[in-house]
Amino acid sequence: MRKQSPLERVHNFEEVNLGYSEEEAIAEANRCLECSSPSCVDGCPVGVDIPGFIKKIKKGDFCSALALIREKNNLPAICGRVCPQEKQCEKKCVLSRKDRAVAIGNLERFVADYCSSSFGRADLSLSSASVAVVGSGPAGLTTAGDLARLGYSVSVFEALHLPGGVLRYGIPAFRLPKEVLEREIEYIKSLGVEIKTDYVIGKIKGIGDLLKEGAKAVYIGIGAGLPRFLEIEGEDLVGVYSANEFLTRVNLMKAYLFPYVATPVRVGRKVAVIGGGNVALDSARTALRLGAERVFLLYRRSSVEMPARKEEFENAREEGVEFMFFTQPVRIIGGEKREVRGIECVRTELKEKDESGRPSPVPLPNSNFSLEVDSVIIAIGTQANPLLFQDGKELERTEKGYIKVDEEGRTSMKGVFAGGDIVTGSATVISAMGMAKKSALAIDRYIRTGLWR
Ligand SMILES: Cc1cc2nc3c(=O)[nH]c(=O)nc-3n(C[C@H](O)[C@H](O)[C@H](O)COP(=O)(O)OP(=O)(O)OC[C@H]3O[C@@H](n4cnc5c(N)ncnc54)[C@H](O)[C@@H]3O)c2cc1C
Repeated sequence: MRKQSPLERVHNFEEVNLGYSEEEAIAEANRCLECSSPSCVDGCPVGVDIPGFIKKIKKGDFCSALALIREKNNLPAICGRVCPQEKQCEKKCVLSRKDRAVAIGNLERFVADYCSSSFGRADLSLSSASVAVVGSGPAGLTTAGDLARLGYSVSVFEALHLPGGVLRYGIPAFRLPKEVLEREIEYIKSLGVEIKTDYVIGKIKGIGDLLKEGAKAVYIGIGAGLPRFLEIEGEDLVGVYSANEFLTRVNLMKAYLFPYVATPVRVGRKVAVIGGGNVALDSARTALRLGAERVFLLYRRSSVEMPARKEEFENAREEGVEFMFFTQPVRIIGGEKREVRGIECVRTELKEKDESGRPSPVPLPNSNFSLEVDSVIIAIGTQANPLLFQDGKELERTEKGYIKVDEEGRTSMKGVFAGGDIVTGSATVISAMGMAKKSALAIDRYIRTGLWR
């Protein structure tokens, strides 16, 4: 393992994509054809007026462009960095058919960074009606911000000691600097939202208590933070991490500064990361930054089926992550002290599509092989954390444990709405925000009219 000082590691976590200069932003905006019936907006789950804000960038009117984005999106500096634009707005851009789509995400990020200090404390008159929001990830922050703008008094209850959800503990600083997250959270607070941290709903209070204590409605945006495991031999060895634990140690607890902080993290010289999504890539790139010499990313399918953002895949490749496609782990090999020594895998081939719509990987007989590794990070998805439901038993859930809602986020409990990953399972920041926006409007209607459905 390369010897690094904690300070060197801080440097390693600096943002990779440096963003546009003013000239570059205007040049990129000028590529927009100003279509008479633009389809890019249809690709945005929160409905940002994309042609409108790009037109303002063309004129150099950057902060008006940001104001226009903020009408629909409370977290533009984040979305500009982490949204899968190539599957959404940019995919719909007419230029993508022949050439490269307008880089909508980079432009959104540019104005959000350029005008980062352009919001003062909003002068909103908050009504006496209060709403409780559980969870401060993208879903909770979006509902909270939208409701505060509508005049409600909003309190967000967050289990961790810092707000932001996956944006805080999952996505590493080299993709989403924590100052950017802080800035977006400050904006939400500037709308009058109160955020109470270290507050686990389901333990300290239940959903019913929040309603009894005066909340006119409750919004649940608790994500799906419980890791899934492979259920193979050796998963209990020392040096096996769930991606959630690994990334939380580094991003939230700043383990890269150990011994100056209390939380350590050890990766060793060689690391195997299992999975093919953003979480797996973030873990692999983080392990490299912590000093691992070789990081293998094991994925059962091919690069085509990988759900990760394209930019992250390319960056990971450039940084030296070694991709092993068509590879499925079958056993983690331990040493005398129950430490990870290696991982045994089989090769796979792709057959007909499974319920995820992707070709299903089938192990090839007699294709077993072993890799020598010092740690294993499992990034194969997450599921609903049952903690909240110790109290909220009336909340109807799906077979997989997610909360059942209608199209506007109404749950089976009157006055209680839900959205984001706790409804869909692990998805994206913008899909969580899109659902949250719909629920904010439905909550407003419910409080004003008293009509539930
Ligand atoms: C490592 C990683 C990388 C990702 N990269 C991308 C990406 O590049 N682009 C993208 O679009 N998406 C990405 N995603 C997915 C995306 O981050 C999630 O879909 C999104 O954060 C879901 O938002 P949410 O608000 O529903 O939940 P979360 O972000 O999970 O937030 C839920 C919050 O609720 C809190 N909470 C949980 N239980 C309780 C309780 N009982 N009481 C109080 N608070 C509670 C949690 O502590 C957390 O802060 C990534 C996910 C991970 C893990």
